[in-house]
Amino acid sequence: MTEAPKRFPLTLSSVVDTKARPTGVSARRVVATPQTATRNAAYDNLKPPAVKSTIVPGTGSKQPYFNPVTSTNNTARSSSGSNPAAHYIADGRPMPLVSEGVRKAMVARIAKQGVRDVSVLAAMEAVPRHMFMESGLASQAYIDASLPIGHHQTISQPYIVARMIEVMRDNQQGGVLNRVLEIGTGCGYQAAVLSLVAKEVYSIERIKPLHELARSNLRPLRVANIRLHYGDGMLGLPQVAPFDGIILAAAGLEVPQALLDQMAIGGRLVAPMGSRHQVLQLIERISKFDWTSTTLEDCHFVPLRSGII
Ligand code: SAH
Repeated sequence: MTEAPKRFPLTLSSVVDTKARPTGVSARRVVATPQTATRNAAYDNLKPPAVKSTIVPGTGSKQPYFNPVTSTNNTARSSSGSNPAAHYIADGRPMPLVSEGVRKAMVARIAKQGVRDVSVLAAMEAVPRHMFMESGLASQAYIDASLPIGHHQTISQPYIVARMIEVMRDNQQGGVLNRVLEIGTGCGYQAAVLSLVAKEVYSIERIKPLHELARSNLRPLRVANIRLHYGDGMLGLPQVAPFDGIILAAAGLEVPQALLDQMAIGGRLVAPMGSRHQVLQLIERISKFDWTSTTLEDCHFVPLRSGII
């Protein structure tokens, strides 16, 4: 049975578009990062919800929103009715495993950890993270941890996803992002969050089955402004550059020159750098030939690797 579309989260338009904390700038540098693969206890056989949803991109001036349309049956609906995606159907029975409340609590934790950008927090609240995880792990979707997605890769920890996007938005353009690039699509979660704060999102994944996984995870969300590419993200996408923002979801020792060259002037690149010890690095392009680099905080990511598999 199909229900009428519902808006979620409560309109982002109700939130003020304030900016993240300011970030300093320092000397020029380039590097990327390693990784974290968290082991986890598999849970029972809860299936992700049969949900169809639509993500409408932010347009800079307009606040984005997530507008899910569910095909679950009526008994599975939330009494608050605000987030049908929060319900699972297992064996035909309603399974209120992942609730709107749980996702709100995740966002509250992220805010407590220091993320202030309300547009980012709203986007985190809008995207049904459990729909990007395999069913056995969906019950853990809203804990603040990276979790396995197969092929020795992980879905990034919610806090770091939010933090990276916050840093990227803290630009001279008041947070407006026309075109952004993500290196390391993984399961597609961060791309979905990005799609709510940027007009166009390009995301590259080097592992074919993960590229396909992201495609199938994003399909039911009907996100119109994400373009997924299978390829080596270290090469970027010169054909669509320049980018106002670039996020690397994997850590290397250097940021590839190709990515630096594909930044718009005034653009921001956020990347984990290092191997065992990793730090989040912000690189800003201040002119055709100049970049600045700022070290932000420790982090833990899977390694950036060249080539495709
Ligand atoms: N963005 C994901 C995180 C995925 S983990 C999320 O939303 O949670 C990092 C991903 O980066 C892995 O899928 C890995 O395969 C990918 N990756 C590593 N090096 C890459 C490269 N050179 N090009 C594209 N993807 C790469």
